[in-house]
Amino acid sequence: MRLQGKKALVTGASRGIGRAVADRFIAEGAEVWGIGTREPDGLTGRLEAAGGRLRWVSADLGDLERVEELTEGLIKDSGGFDILVNNAGITRDNLSFRMSIADFQKVLDVNLSSPFIMARTVGRAMARVRRGSIINMASVVGIHGNGGQANYAAAKAGVIGFTKSLAQEVAVRGVRVNAIAPGFIATDMTGAMTDEAREKTLRLIPLKRMGSPEDVARAALFLASDESAYITGQVIPVDGGMFM
Ligand code: NAD
Repeated sequence: MRLQGKKALVTGASRGIGRAVADRFIAEGAEVWGIGTREPDGLTGRLEAAGGRLRWVSADLGDLERVEELTEGLIKDSGGFDILVNNAGITRDNLSFRMSIADFQKVLDVNLSSPFIMARTVGRAMARVRRGSIINMASVVGIHGNGGQANYAAAKAGVIGFTKSLAQEVAVRGVRVNAIAPGFIATDMTGAMTDEAREKTLRLIPLKRMGSPEDVARAALFLASDESAYITGQVIPVDGGMFM
């Protein structure tokens, strides 16, 4: 029960990595407020299983005008969060020469601007009580780039930049800010890949398997808990050794 008595806000908690993070945090004693675009399938069962320790909020985090107000409302309703996991993310892949400006901008809005607005809004409240852990979901693509994902790579590189900057600003006020850089994780996001692309990627992974959402959730648990009390401004790859 490493998160006993803690309150966590987890974005993109309806499926994939965010869902695994939410479930793991609840299992470790936390109360989780999950956000997703819409109510996920099987929510009633999840709410019952969590025994009052899961709250659900449907919201479009790409609607930047509303993110700050929404977050402030949640801080007020919950009484404040000890942990924020900025996990929601999208892809709109294409080669740079063919990518529409709208697809470039949309990925930046959801994957970079919205997490920044949430982090500073939740971070302000955390700074007032002088404790908190903010975890931003980046990607190995934000470090190494990836053909066909200029928008996504730019957003994830931006997430790493603002993670380190915010970490420097709030460390003195007891708030830690870190990022996780997942590699190739089995979720809906990677589910659309062709068999050929999947085989090619698997060949690059020394541990010879795709990661599971739980692999990433365990890293998030570490960064959320006091076990990482002396770690801030870091990017932790969870990629099976794909990039060393
Ligand atoms: P997913 O597509 O399975 O789930 C994405 C989640 O984000 C869903 O809950 C969805 O509702 C939510 N979301 C998307 N757009 C939203 C919006 N506008 N408003 C509110 N919620 C929104 O994705 P995943 O694979 O679980 O990815 C989770 C995070 O991990 C993302 O930030 C992704 O970029 C990152 N990541 C994933 C991988 C991978 O291999 N799957 C690798 C590196 C990084």
